[in-house]
Amino acid sequence: MKITHIEHIGIAVKSIEEQLPYYEGVLGLKCYNIETVEDQKVKTAFFKVGQTKIELLEPTSEESTIAKFIEKRGEGIHHMAFATENVNDALKEMEGKGVRLIDHEARPGAEGLNIAFLHPKSTGGVLTELCEHPE
Ligand code: ZN
Repeated sequence: MKITHIEHIGIAVKSIEEQLPYYEGVLGLKCYNIETVEDQKVKTAFFKVGQTKIELLEPTSEESTIAKFIEKRGEGIHHMAFATENVNDALKEMEGKGVRLIDHEARPGAEGLNIAFLHPKSTGGVLTELCEHPE
């Protein structure tokens, strides 16, 4: 398994619109994509910072895991995503090393990436995502 870089940092927010003055006005980053991921009940906004992105996550329903996260822990960093060449191979290798998985197989995520989550119990409390750009 080869981790190539941090693909993105996911940040849970109550409202993307309310955060734009900070990310665009203060940091000078440009929001280049806003996308709703229906099955995760979340609206996402993306900013590039070099090779890495910031992904703001706004819940579109109270059922959303992001809504539950904000309710429990407040707004803030939700997960970190590593880019790797093959998510399914990485999952197999990690499971073999005793890492607890949330997803046992890659699934489609925002921006056309294949993604899978690892359980924070196995990653020092950091909800961790693996992503791969499909060929
Ligand atoms: Zn993510």
